[in-house]
Formats: sequence, structure tokens, C-alpha cells
Amino acid sequence: MITLPADPAPADTALVCSAAVIGAGPAGLMAAERLAKAGYAPHVFDAMPTASRKFLMAGRGGLNLTHAEPLERFVTRYGDRRADLGAALTEFGPQELRDWVQGLGIETFVGSSERVFPTGMKAAPLLRAWLTRLQAAGGQLHTRHRWQGWDSAGGLSFATPNGRRRVQADVTVLALGGGSWARLGSDGAWIPLLAAAGIDTAPFAPSNCGFMVSWSPHLSTHFAGTPLKAITLSHTTHSQRGECMLTAYGLEGGALYALSPLLRDSIAAIGTATLNVDLCPDRPLAAVVAALAKPRGSQSMAGHLRRTLGLDGVKAALLREVLGTTLPHGTAALAAAIKALPLVLTATAPIDSAISTAGGVKFDALDQGLMVKTHPGLFCCGEMLDWEAPTGGYLLTACFATGALAGKSAAGWLQTTRPHH
Ligand SMILES: Cc1cc2nc3c(=O)[nH]c(=O)nc-3n(C[C@H](O)[C@H](O)[C@H](O)COP(=O)(O)OP(=O)(O)OC[C@H]3O[C@@H](n4cnc5c(N)ncnc54)[C@H](O)[C@@H]3O)c2cc1C
Repeated sequence: MITLPADPAPADTALVCSAAVIGAGPAGLMAAERLAKAGYAPHVFDAMPTASRKFLMAGRGGLNLTHAEPLERFVTRYGDRRADLGAALTEFGPQELRDWVQGLGIETFVGSSERVFPTGMKAAPLLRAWLTRLQAAGGQLHTRHRWQGWDSAGGLSFATPNGRRRVQADVTVLALGGGSWARLGSDGAWIPLLAAAGIDTAPFAPSNCGFMVSWSPHLSTHFAGTPLKAITLSHTTHSQRGECMLTAYGLEGGALYALSPLLRDSIAAIGTATLNVDLCPDRPLAAVVAALAKPRGSQSMAGHLRRTLGLDGVKAALLREVLGTTLPHGTAALAAAIKALPLVLTATAPIDSAISTAGGVKFDALDQGLMVKTHPGLFCCGEMLDWEAPTGGYLLTACFATGALAGKSAAGWLQTTRPHH
């Protein structure tokens, strides 16, 4: 458990400060660190009783901080937002992030598929060291402070257990997160607050999310929770090798998440998305045909599939789910189905269960330094901005990078507008 300095938050007291950062996730803490470095002791506010709950949750399954591929390839993972995020990632990209983690006394290593992790894989030691350093640099953390917008005099208005609290800050950095896993703090309730202030936002959509498939009762009863290993998933011309998990309602998991923006957009456009599953990705179609053509003798089809192609368990069940219990007799048709078994996805899984969300504050509303064009002195960063990326460390890297840029820009803005600080 991360311990925090007590904050009495007396009711109806106003706080006047140079810099307020709202949201104590990775983006907000990074912005605060940049402000502290520039000499502006930032006040960091978070609605939750402790900081960075989603970051800590990310560490549960192994904290994938970033990716070791070259920066030119790395930036392509942000698709259409590559140009918008380019400046932030050039200044604070994967290597800078690894150096920064090392500066906190934690080594990183390159794991499977070039993913970068901290030694120990967890977020808690990193967060503990970071909060300690931030506090020593003058940062102050106020938890249980839920930001509820601006009052009529332009002050920041917070609901606290002790009542309303007003904060008057020269600059404000918003780092409120996306719209999933609300129980960890990022509930997206800020969207109407910004919309009311005339700040352009795109609606949230699930990203890196699961999908619904209408399984038969047999499949969901017997195979929910079973991993589908060594498969390749494809949709139109895009494919992803890996694994996913069969769930009672459909599918979840890494290989699927990688295709999730395309699948989601197909469902939005035409109501469904077809996902093709290659159950034997290591064998070309001709090899599958040849294996199936081997004499079967008195063996059942199930036995033949197991013996010739190693297809059994959940893979065999999935084949029968789609093709029916009487599998096609022609080897060509059966081989084609094994290489591209079509699953019809009917909807995304609920947004709250998504690893991340697309949508949020549009880049058009921001200047190069992530300041809201219509609200001088107000900056935004992290997952609350309108971008998305696959898993693999790309999410956290962009959160850290935009946090660093917003914090640096906020400090620069203070230096220009408050030169006598
Ligand atoms: C299960 C899981 C595993 C993940 N694993 C990885 C991984 O391995 N690698 C990776 O790159 N990414 C991973 N992610 C994604 C990553 O954790 C997020 O993209 C990242 O935490 C977003 O950072 P952020 O600072 O923008 O927002 P958040 O971390 O969501 O922080 C936002 C903060 O704002 C606060 N807040 C919100 N509204 C208010 C308000 N009105 N008033 C005050 N405070 C408010 C919240 O309480 C929260 O603390 C994972 C996500 C999940 C759910």
C-alpha cells in the first residue's frame, strides 16, 4: 500500500497556488514532476483515496512500461495520432522513459516481443519511489478531492469529505484518464465539465477490448475461461498472431485487442465484424489439406483432426461451433475453415472492462504544448486525450510523454506570464 501525507482539507478553505494538477495517474504525476523541477511546487489532486490505482493495476499482470523497437516504428503504433503525439514522444520517448525509471533506482529489461518491464514487474516500488521524490521536490498530494468544474470566479471546485474546496491556480494541468475501469478512478465524468466549458471532446469508445459472440450454451458452459493458444486472428487485411481467451460472452485477450479498433469500427459501421481464426498458423493451407487427406481408416473425424493437426480441446470445439457437428467431408473446405474460421462479433464488451479508451479531448482543441487554445493556462495530458494505441507499453509511454510535455509547457507558461516568481 502506498502511504500518502495526510491532507486535512478543511471545509470551505480556499487554496491559492501557482500550479494545480488534477489526476494522480502516470500522466498527472509526470506533469507535476516537470513543474516541481521548474521550481513551481505543484498541488496534485485526485478523487480517489490513493494515487495511481490504474497504474498499480497495470502492474498486476507485469508492468509493460514501453517497447524497445526503433522510434520510427514505435510512433506508427499511434495511427492517425502519430503526428499529434510526435513532439511529446520525440522529447520523452521509450529510451527517455527507461532512463527516467532508472533514475528512480529501478532497472528495466527487454522481455518477450521487445516489451520493456521494470525488474520485479510491479508498479508499486516505482510509484513509491516516485511519490517520495515528488514530495521532496515540493509536490503536495491531495487525495479524496473530486474536481467538479470551475466556479463562477474561475476557481477550481472540488468535493472533499469535508465539504467543498476552492482552489485558485495560475496554471491547471488536467490528467483525468480515460473512461474504463471506473472503480480505479478514471470514470470519464469530466467529459460534460469540459464540454460545458466549450472544450471539444470525442465520445469515449473501448480500445484494447473484448467482443461479444453468440456462443452456443454448450461452448460457453464447457469452454468459458479457456485460452486459445497459438492462433492467428485476422480481420480484412490485418492479422495478429498470439492468443486470446474464450469467455462466456465472447472473446478477450491480447491478439484480439490488437485488432480491436478495426473490429469496433466495423461493428459501428455495419453492426457486426467478422474475425477469422487460423487454428493452425504454423502450417500453410496446402499442408493442412495434405494432412487431412491422409487415410483416416476407421478413426473418427475428431481423432483424425487430433492426430494429423493436433486440433483438440477448445480448438476442435470452436471448429464444430462454427461448422456444425457434421464437419464438411471435402478436405479443401475443411482445411479452408481451419485456416480461417469465421466468427461473427456482434458488439464490443462493455467499455468499463476495456484496457483503454479512445476518445477524449481533441488535439484540435490544444496547441503544440497541450494547452487548451480557448483557455490559456489550462493543459491536458494522458489517456484523456483523443488517441489510442495497442498494448505493448504504448499506452503508458504516451501518458508519460504527454504528461512531461504538458508539465513543461505549463512551467513555461508560468515563466512567461508570472516572470517574478
Ligand atoms: C488492467 C490494466 C492493465 C494495463 N496494463 C498496461 C500496461 O502493462 N502497459 C501500458 O502501457 N498500459 C497499461 N494499461 C493502461 C494504463 O494503465 C493507462 O493508459 C494509464 O494508467 C493512463 O494514465 P493517465 O495518467 O492518463 O490516467 P489514469 O491512470 O487513469 O489516472 C487518472 C486519475 O485521474 C483521477 N480522476 C479522474 N477524474 C477525476 C476528478 N473528477 N477529480 C479528481 N481526480 C480525478 C483518477 O482517480 C485517476 O487517479 C493497463 C490498463 C488496465 C486497466
